[in-house]
Amino acid sequence: MIQFSYIKPLSQRAAIDALRKDPTAQFIAGGTNLVDLMKRGVSAPQKLIDINALPLKQIAQQEGKINIGALALNGAVSEHPLIVSKLPLLSLALQAGASAQLRNMATVGGNMMQRTRCPYFYETSLPCNKREPGSGCSALEGYNRMHAIFGHSNSCIAVHPSDMSVAMAALNATVLVEGPKGKRAIPFTDFHKLPGDTPQKDNTLQPGELIVGVNVPEQPFTKHVHYLKIRDRASYAFALVSVAAALHLDGKTIKDARLAMGGVAHKPWRLADAEKHLVGKRATEETFLQAAEIAMQGAKAFKHNAFKIPMGKNAIVEALKTAAAKT
Ligand SMILES: Cc1cc2nc3c(=O)[nH]c(=O)nc-3n(C[C@H](O)[C@H](O)[C@H](O)COP(=O)(O)OP(=O)(O)OC[C@H]3O[C@@H](n4cnc5c(N)ncnc54)[C@H](O)[C@@H]3O)c2cc1C
Ligand code: SF4
Repeated sequence: MIQFSYIKPLSQRAAIDALRKDPTAQFIAGGTNLVDLMKRGVSAPQKLIDINALPLKQIAQQEGKINIGALALNGAVSEHPLIVSKLPLLSLALQAGASAQLRNMATVGGNMMQRTRCPYFYETSLPCNKREPGSGCSALEGYNRMHAIFGHSNSCIAVHPSDMSVAMAALNATVLVEGPKGKRAIPFTDFHKLPGDTPQKDNTLQPGELIVGVNVPEQPFTKHVHYLKIRDRASYAFALVSVAAALHLDGKTIKDARLAMGGVAHKPWRLADAEKHLVGKRATEETFLQAAEIAMQGAKAFKHNAFKIPMGKNAIVEALKTAAAKT
């Protein structure tokens, strides 16, 4: 049994100080990922800093943006009237994640911080550079069906598993953090990182920093949006490939577009060139196919995941068609 101590600070400053003083400590929010990692021996914090007493559960409209606290629950965010009406893409992405029970425990901060689902990361008897830097990557020559087709390195080919983060990246959200050196705002697309030669680091959070919330700008993507998630089971499964699609239409003309994919890279994969191609064009299947071709350029598959390239292309077309058809 792993021995650890437990504290529940009442202020953000106290939580940040506790982490600064003890680098072996970790924050715990809903616990739906961290407790599994501890049970499997992947993570062994000597102290758990329970952040659930912090006042970070708000979902509020503020001068052109929606502010969501780091401790807002995935289920509550997905059903909140402000999110459903102003950010329906985020609502759909959250509802595609996990199960209702998990969404009622999982928090916004914890969701973006969740670790990869690469099976070798969880199997402590096998090499994994993310779990034990320098030990090797078992997935490179192993069973890599769930793995990345974009942005991978020789050190790691894992994908980020969050659905919520794909929508957040598409919607130009900003992550708000506080740490020993003060407050910072990080564009969502810069929050998660590619593996490079430091796959042990999933994101750009600095030591001792606490995520306090996310700001999502209000934007005209309130109708023509879709989150398409392709997975092995209809529920309770991570994405093989997912697509967050948002269109701002003027009649049949695309005035603005947002596209991002999940299940394909170490971070939510924003498709900026495909978005640019869509703007100003007619919302037709042909346009969507062209955007999908552009989006999949540069994809590189491994032994067991070549299916993700045609699947990704088809998923982009389908997500855009579904978004455009919404009334
Ligand atoms: C069976 C199962 C199926 C799932 N399916 C899906 C799915 O389909 N799609 C999907 O997106 N997710 C899925 N999940 C993952 C689930 O959404 C995450 O486990 C959850 O969002 C994590 O949130 P949490 O609050 O429980 O985090 P915790 O487990 O409490 O923490 C996770 C990590 O985040 C850190 N952390 C938490 N809050 C903060 C903060 N405010 N600041 C800094 N660090 C913080 C912790 O230190 C820890 O390292 C699934 C999980 C399970 C168990
Ligand atoms: S893909 Fe990444 S997480 Fe999976 S075994 Fe390789 S290094 Fe570990």
